[in-house]
Amino acid sequence: MSSTDIKKTQSVTELYGSLVFNDRVMRERLPKDIYKAVHKTIMNGTHLELDVANSVAAAMKEWAVELGATHFTHWFQPMTGLTAEKHDSFLSPEPDGTVIMEFSGKELVKGEPDASSFPSGGLRATFEARGYTAWDPSSPAFIKDGTLYIPTAFISYGGEALDKKTPLLRSMEALSNQAVKVLHLLGDADVHHVTTTVGSEQEYFLIDKSMYMKRKDLLFCGRTLLGAPAPKGQEMEDHYFGVLKPKVSAFMHDLDEELWKLGVPAKTKHNEVAPSQHELAPVFETANVAVDHNQLTMEVMKKVADKHGYACLLHEKPFEGINGSGKHNNWSISTDTGINLLDPGKKPAENTRFLVFLMAVITAVDDYADVLRLSVATAGNDHRLGANEAPPAIISIFVGDELAAVLDSIESGSDFQAAGKTQMGVGADVLPHITKDTTDRNRTSPFAFTGNKFEFRMPGSAVSVANANIVLNTAVAQALSDIYEELKDVPEAELADKVQELLKERLTAHKRVIFNGNGYTDEWVEEAARRGLDNLKSLPDAMPRWISDKSVKLFTTHKVLTKEEIFSRYEILLENDSKAVHIEALTMQEMVRKDFVSGLLAYMKDLTEEAAGKKAFLSADACALEESILKKLSEDAKEITEKLAKLTADTKLAEQQTDVLECAKYYESTILKDMEELRTYVDDAESEIPDQYLPYPTYGAMLFSLR
Ligand code: ADP
Ligand code: MG
Repeated sequence: MSSTDIKKTQSVTELYGSLVFNDRVMRERLPKDIYKAVHKTIMNGTHLELDVANSVAAAMKEWAVELGATHFTHWFQPMTGLTAEKHDSFLSPEPDGTVIMEFSGKELVKGEPDASSFPSGGLRATFEARGYTAWDPSSPAFIKDGTLYIPTAFISYGGEALDKKTPLLRSMEALSNQAVKVLHLLGDADVHHVTTTVGSEQEYFLIDKSMYMKRKDLLFCGRTLLGAPAPKGQEMEDHYFGVLKPKVSAFMHDLDEELWKLGVPAKTKHNEVAPSQHELAPVFETANVAVDHNQLTMEVMKKVADKHGYACLLHEKPFEGINGSGKHNNWSISTDTGINLLDPGKKPAENTRFLVFLMAVITAVDDYADVLRLSVATAGNDHRLGANEAPPAIISIFVGDELAAVLDSIESGSDFQAAGKTQMGVGADVLPHITKDTTDRNRTSPFAFTGNKFEFRMPGSAVSVANANIVLNTAVAQALSDIYEELKDVPEAELADKVQELLKERLTAHKRVIFNGNGYTDEWVEEAARRGLDNLKSLPDAMPRWISDKSVKLFTTHKVLTKEEIFSRYEILLENDSKAVHIEALTMQEMVRKDFVSGLLAYMKDLTEEAAGKKAFLSADACALEESILKKLSEDAKEITEKLAKLTADTKLAEQQTDVLECAKYYESTILKDMEELRTYVDDAESEIPDQYLPYPTYGAMLFSLR
C-alpha cells in the first residue's frame, strides 16, 4: 500500500458517519446516565423520560449546529412509499431582537405534521385528520443539506399506523418475542432479544439527463411507454460486471462518499445485466435501520446522478425488452448474544436450532405465500415479476443441493450422506458446512437460501422494502409460535425426539414450496399449479388475499396491524395502483398525439414531397422506396388512430368505476392492454422514422450513451 492509499483509507474512516448522531457521538456528548438510558431504549425499546429527551435534544442541537445545521425535521415514511419531511428552524427570537438556537425534548420526541394530505385509506374518515410523528431512537438522526433529520414513526391521533415504519417495528418485536420463547425451550436461556437483519441490494439505471428531460413518459411515469427496440439489447451479456465507464465510476465514487457520510454502509457496486444498469449493495443492518438507509440511498442516488448529468431511474421496468430492476432483500435473524439463527452451526445443538428456524421460515413462506407476494405488488413491479428475467410471481424456496439432501434425510429418517462421509441424523452429529452458493444457478428463485440468510428477490427497485420485511417477520413469528405451542409441554428427556418428529412433519406438509430448478420455465408454472402453489399475476389478482380472514388473523394476533389498518392499506394499495396506470394512460395519449404524431407526419410529408419531385423529374418507379415506406407508415397511422381512440375512450370509462378493486382490475385488464396495442403500432412506425424527426430520444440513444 502506498502512502497516498493509506491517507485515503484514513479519510474514509473519518468521513464515515461524520453526519450521523451515532452511538459514538452520544457517548462523547451525553452525561453517562443519560447515555445509558438512551442506549437501553435503543436496545430494548423501553420508554424514554422527558428529562432524558431534553438532555439528548440539547446535545443533538449543539452537535447539529456545529456542523452547520439551522433546521430540524421529523423524517417519516407515509403510505406513498416515499419519505416526507417538514422543516422547522432552531431559531427562537429573543425580546432584544436577537435569536437563540433552541430544540427541546418535546420537539425531538413528538411532531404534529398535518396528516390530511397523506393517504390514509379511510382511517381519516373515522379518526381525526391530524397525525403525529414519534421519534424512533433505534434509527440514528443525521444531517442532510443543513437540516437535522430525525427518523420518526407516523401515527394517527387514534394510534393507527399511517406509515411503514410503525408496523415494521411491531413485526420485529413480534418475531423477537416468539423466537426468544423457542430459543429458551431449546436451551439458549441467555437470549433476551432477537433482531431482524436486512441488507437490500439496489438496482438502478443511469441515463443522460438531457435525454430524460425530453421524455414525458420518464418524467411523469418513471418508465418508457413507447420506444422501438435498439438493434442491440442485452443479448451479448457484455455489461454484467463489466469495466465501469469513467464517468459512471466518478458518479459511483461520489455516491459512496455521500452515503458513507450519512452512515449508510454502501459496500459493493457493479454493472448489471442490462446496458446502463447498475447495482449497489450495502452491508446488512437491523431491519429498521436498513429500510431507512435504503430510502436514503434511493434519494441520494437521484441527487448525485443529477449532479453528474445523469437521471437515475429506479422504476422496476423502465425499458421494454430489457431487464427490469429489483431490490434483493437479504434477511436473517440474530440474537443479542451474537448468533445468526440461520447459520448452520458447528455443534449438534446448533444444528438443531438452525433446522428449527429454517423450518419455521419454510413453513411461514408456504403458509403465507400470498401475502408475501402482495408485499411486493405495485403497478411497476407487476411488469417485472413473471417476465423472463425476474423471479416468477409464484413463491418458492431454493435451498440448494446440500441442504436439500439434509432435508431429505430428515423426512426419510435416514442418515445424511455427504462427500463420502456418513453423517448421522439431526442433533446427533454435525451438519456439513453448507457452502454459500455463489453460482448463478439459483438466480431464478424468488426466495433463496444463501448460506446464512435468505434472499427475497421479488421486491421492486422503486419502493420501500418495509412491506416485505413486515410480512416475512410476522409470518415467521406465527410459525415459531406454533412450534413453541407444540414443544412447550414436552419433558426435557423427550425433547430431541419430539423436535425430530416436528421437523419431519413440517417438511412433509410444506416441501411443496421448495423448488431447486429453473423458475423461469413454463414447466415450473405447470408444476407449481400441480403442487397447489398460487400464481398471483398482478396486484388486483392478489389484493383480496390481503383482507382474507387468515391474513387478518395473522397481523392482528401479533399486533402488527389492526383490522382497520389492514383494510386502509387495502384501499391505499389499490388506489395507488389505479392512479399509476391512469397517469400512464394520459401520458401515453399526450405523447402519441402531440409528440409522436408530429414527427410521423413531418416525415410522411417530406417523403411525399420527395416522391412527388422524383415523379415529376424522373420515372414513376424512381420513388418506389418512398412509396413503400409511406405505405407502411400509413397502415401504422390508421391503426394508431384507432387504438388511440380506444385508449382515450376506455380511460374516460375508468373514471366511472366506483369500487376500488373493480377499478384496479379494469386498469389492469383493459387500459394496460389498450396501451400495449397502441404501443405495438407506434413502435413499428418509430423503427421506420429517422431519429431527427422524433421529438424524443430512442432506446438506442438512451441505453448506449453512457461514457
Ligand atoms: P452474495 O449475494 O454474493 O452472497 P453477500 O453474502 O456478501 O453477497 O451479501 C449480499 C447482501 O446480503 C449484502 O447486502 C449483505 O450485507 C447481506 N447480508 C449478509 N449477511 C446477512 C445477514 N446475516 N442478514 C441480512 N443480510 C445479510
Ligand atoms: Mg444477490
